[in-house]
Amino acid sequence: MITLNNLSKIFRTELIETHALRDVNLQVNEGEFAALTGPSGSGKSTLLNILGTLESFDSGDYLLDGQSVTGLSDAALSKLRNEKIGFIFQSFNLIKDFSIYDNIELPLRYRGLKAGARKQRIEQALELVGLHARRDYLPGQLSGGQQQRVAIARAIAGQPRILLADEPTGNLDSLMARQVMELLEQINQQGCTILMVTHDPDQARRAGRNIQIIDGQLHDSTLYEPLAAHSA
Ligand code: ATP
Ligand code: MG
Repeated sequence: MITLNNLSKIFRTELIETHALRDVNLQVNEGEFAALTGPSGSGKSTLLNILGTLESFDSGDYLLDGQSVTGLSDAALSKLRNEKIGFIFQSFNLIKDFSIYDNIELPLRYRGLKAGARKQRIEQALELVGLHARRDYLPGQLSGGQQQRVAIARAIAGQPRILLADEPTGNLDSLMARQVMELLEQINQQGCTILMVTHDPDQARRAGRNIQIIDGQLHDSTLYEPLAAHSA
């Protein structure tokens, strides 16, 4: 579903050039749950942003479902993104004056979904993340873990085939982090392909695949045995 061939990314400023990604080759198959780990500054967010077509690259190629994204217009990229990709950020990125319901609805409005379809998807997403009762709250009235679950609901309401999550549990205590992780596992079991940046080795192990980046280079791609609790 995702193929990267010798992909490189250089950030250029007046003073320095940063080789954020060097000759990255990667294959992610439909239904996989992969963790992306590596030191700070190693290129994890850059890779995720490129996969989400939010960031361009300098050389190599990125194929999504066999189609190269190189040379696509902004409109075509944005269509691709809307149809296939969901994002979860570390900092939630919720709109603070909007209710939970309205936060989840906004991207669906952008996509031109009719009111009935929007409502159905929002209800479903709220149900999945267990926040139906809080639909009229403002983000500031929720705990960090609940806000992250809203961000997850917003991403999955778009029914993405790929979910890209940049340290989704980075701001959460261990109990909330576990709840968010369980939710992601549930979404993955329903068929969504997930790539998640994490610093937590336990999460990487649970994900089943650990893609390591060091200094912009993909170093290792370990496949773990599924945990006993998973394989049921
Ligand atoms: P962290 O774990 O701290 O989030 P990361 O692995 O996500 O780190 P990236 O954000 O991908 O790291 O950054 C990779 C490298 O690219 C870093 O050296 C960073 O300084 C550089 N970089 C990232 N974004 C930009 C930018 N917009 N302009 C210039 N350099 C950038
Ligand atoms: Mg980062």
